[in-house]
Amino acid sequence: MAKLQLQNLRKEYNATTIPIKDLSVDIDDGEFLTFVGPSGCGKSTTLRLIAGLEEPTQGQVAINGKTMNHIPPGERNVAMVFQSYALYPHMTIADNIASPLKIRKTPSGEIQKRVSEVVQKLDLDQSLLDRKPGQLSGGQRQRVAVARALVREPEVFLLDEPLSNLDALLREQVRAELKQIFKSQNKPVVYVTHDQTEAMTLSTRIALLYDGVLQQLDTPYQIYNYPANSFVAGFMGSPQMNLMTLNCKGQQAMLGDFGINLPDLSEIPRQIILGIRPEDVRLAAESDEQVVRGKVILVEDLGKEQLLTVQIEGSEKTLRSLIPADQNWDRDQIALALPNTGLHWFDIDSGNRLH
Ligand code: ADP
Repeated sequence: MAKLQLQNLRKEYNATTIPIKDLSVDIDDGEFLTFVGPSGCGKSTTLRLIAGLEEPTQGQVAINGKTMNHIPPGERNVAMVFQSYALYPHMTIADNIASPLKIRKTPSGEIQKRVSEVVQKLDLDQSLLDRKPGQLSGGQRQRVAVARALVREPEVFLLDEPLSNLDALLREQVRAELKQIFKSQNKPVVYVTHDQTEAMTLSTRIALLYDGVLQQLDTPYQIYNYPANSFVAGFMGSPQMNLMTLNCKGQQAMLGDFGINLPDLSEIPRQIILGIRPEDVRLAAESDEQVVRGKVILVEDLGKEQLLTVQIEGSEKTLRSLIPADQNWDRDQIALALPNTGLHWFDIDSGNRLH
């Protein structure tokens, strides 16, 4: 039995606001599961349901097989880390970290021992312990918030966009630290972010939500390489996957003047959605078979690579191609190869993956 179980969870605020429709996920010890999706898709609501800050309209949250629906937040033994840190401004850092233990009337010797253990684990400078949160940088405050979660030794960790208030450089650093820290905890970690890079780099599994519905639940590798539908395909990956609706003709989908071989399908549809990541669209060599031609209308220099936007001959459609910065091409006549291995096909009506 999984440590944390979400079973057919549904949350209705009113007839039109239903942030979670029917969500079932099992999360084991040692798993780092990230709920990711665009703003308003129901990520925070899910976390609040697990924490007990919201009551589900239907379904249940269970920890160790025991339903938590009527257990108040303080008795669920889950620790939550917020984007805003939520530290007590008038308390010292040491008292902030110790606060969950004091609330539980833990003996003071034990408190000291556990606080000093987490301070060491997080590499927090001893000199910070007597300061107040206002005297710390954002990165330090977030480490303190994590320390306060760890000191409780909870059954489940919940983290709600904990890196969003940090600048880009610090975010990357603290992200790597979080991964290290939680790896050693061997408890379920449920993380919420709208940032697909965070989801990819941190998680053992990703749960992608859209409009309160789970779109795909899988490892970062599977989600990236085998997106279950066109929404997942477009959401995960930067630069974004090229996605276009094409007309089918015989065994091919037509991109302007060029035919792209369709995969094995039981029935050829009238139209189909083709997806291909910019890194899979490369400059064509003599030996390439599936080649499209066009004009370069935009070049974005990314340092090591260049991102080209190409207007395809005989079409309004454009294709983006990510190629090494040192490759040369002809602006008016560029040839791009679309290898079969990089193609993703989706159903025009449902958006579901066909191949
Ligand atoms: P996310 O974390 O993915 O950005 P949320 O879970 O915060 O999304 O919100 C999902 C939807 O539920 C949004 O449309 C939001 O406006 C709505 N919502 C969240 N909390 C409440 C509430 N207390 N009352 C009414 N609607 C809410």
